[in-house]
Amino acid sequence: MKKNGWRQWPLLRQIFEGGDGTGPEAMTERTRTLAPKNEKTQTFRSVCPYCAVGCGQLVRVKGGRVVAIEGDPQSPISAGALCPKGAASHELVTHAGRETRVRYRAPHAREWRDMPLDEAMDRIARRVWESRRDTWQANDRRTTAIAHLGGATLDVEENYLIKKLFTGGLGLVCLSNQARI
Ligand code: SF4
Repeated sequence: MKKNGWRQWPLLRQIFEGGDGTGPEAMTERTRTLAPKNEKTQTFRSVCPYCAVGCGQLVRVKGGRVVAIEGDPQSPISAGALCPKGAASHELVTHAGRETRVRYRAPHAREWRDMPLDEAMDRIARRVWESRRDTWQANDRRTTAIAHLGGATLDVEENYLIKKLFTGGLGLVCLSNQARI
């Protein structure tokens, strides 16, 4: 508009130069230089982590960052569709409010505090080990004192490893998962 003055306004171009308003006469400098949002992105096939339907997703990555997650038209399950939850899964990895710290509130304490990840992992491992040792039922080779509830964002491979480790490895019997993939 600035470069060529008011005559470049699409409405006036259409009046003076003709056209039905659906061609170049309707374009501004900005719209002429628009590019598809997925231009120059890498695409990776994935599966929506939220529920057992297992809809196919295309994860678009640019510069090492996920820029969009869309339905995969080639998925035999979902044929390109995603429900609102799956369609919003881009925010699962990018939302500013996403919790990335371990928060801990000690017994009887009123305040929560950040706990370093290493300390949290050591603490959980020690508690699991002690609970298993103290409640082991030798005849049945199991413990019913520890349970595990998986989250909706665990993928197939993670669930496989959890099942192997917790049942065959540690002898847990109380295992479930929200997604049940
Ligand atoms: S949450 Fe929605 S998009 Fe994701 S697998 Fe389930 S139905 Fe499909």
